Amino acid sequence: MTRAFNFSAGPATLPESVLRQAQAEMLEWNGVGASVVEISHRSADFIALAERAEADLRQLLSIPDDYAVLFLAGGATTQQALLPLNFASPGQTVDVVVTGHWGKTAIKQAKPYVNVHIAADGEPGGFRDIPPRAQWQLSPDAAYVHITANETIHGIEFRDTPDVGEVPLFADFSSSIASEPLDVSRYGLIYAGAQKNLGPVGISVVIVRRDLLARAGQPRADIFNYASHAARDSMLNTPPTWNWYLLGLTVKWMLDEGGVAEFARRNAEKARLVYGAIDGSGGYYRNEVAPGVRSRMNIPFFLPDERLDALFVSESKAAGLLALKGHKAVGGIRASLYNAMPVAGAQALVDFMHDFAQRHG
Ligand code: PMP
Repeated sequence: MTRAFNFSAGPATLPESVLRQAQAEMLEWNGVGASVVEISHRSADFIALAERAEADLRQLLSIPDDYAVLFLAGGATTQQALLPLNFASPGQTVDVVVTGHWGKTAIKQAKPYVNVHIAADGEPGGFRDIPPRAQWQLSPDAAYVHITANETIHGIEFRDTPDVGEVPLFADFSSSIASEPLDVSRYGLIYAGAQKNLGPVGISVVIVRRDLLARAGQPRADIFNYASHAARDSMLNTPPTWNWYLLGLTVKWMLDEGGVAEFARRNAEKARLVYGAIDGSGGYYRNEVAPGVRSRMNIPFFLPDERLDALFVSESKAAGLLALKGHKAVGGIRASLYNAMPVAGAQALVDFMHDFAQRHG
């Protein structure tokens, strides 16, 4: 059995060296006589692992000291519900800029707790572009402004951090964190489910400016309180230790490979290859996203006839290219090109696309 190039949108491909290390350490880790999943999260060995992972993530993303980093069980959707509970008072307005499916889930999760105001909406335009900043209708008294840095399904990515004035900017970076250098200080809060660029599903990272943790928010149980998690170094209860371990290995791998500047270079190269194959296909393949906001991480595209989709997916799978079926909300094909996807994988996809278009043109 050989490992294929895996274009899954998430859970997604992980670096082979990370998986091999995890395999080698599965039965016995760090000289403790047990697996990392069999020891207390309060043991000195695990605490050292957790501290190392945080230090490495801080180095990778150049996270300033006035930001707390939380490692929390659950996914990005969980954070979408926790944001209004922690940072807005009951009924207060939060502004949301909707550029695809995940902006809509952010609204759905926040609605029970706050007055959600859609400051800009890409849906009338079919989520093919980001509404220009000049057209956003921001509320001066909003608790925060929420954006989705990269829309995993619609393939739309902010290529610049928008200026939203004094109101803190909160961003869902689930599918693009660590894909390029990031100025964390432009954001009040950044969150990401780990299962694309950071490791396995089951753990999320929240990077939050410490002063915001003093906000009263809304009545909530301690376990839903970010400040409580921060005060206890994300060990308020038993954290997902295995996921934290794999995340730590993945972050270390990214540092060893050259950090976010190197991944920005590789990701630009992969995106150039795949968009080049689409745009150079004489109309056979189509991506409908405005060129300035095309995602480097997730590339949805269409074939001339949707009846060819299933054939493209089965033939590509046979050629060692996995999980290229588009999301059902959009259809067509989608190639996800996260950090662990090598340039050779994008090149193999491009070669297959040329071949497929010739045979089924
Ligand atoms: N936001 C974005 C941008 C995503 O891509 C996803 C998952 N694909 C989510 C939120 C939801 O994440 P989870 O399933 O971990 O809750």
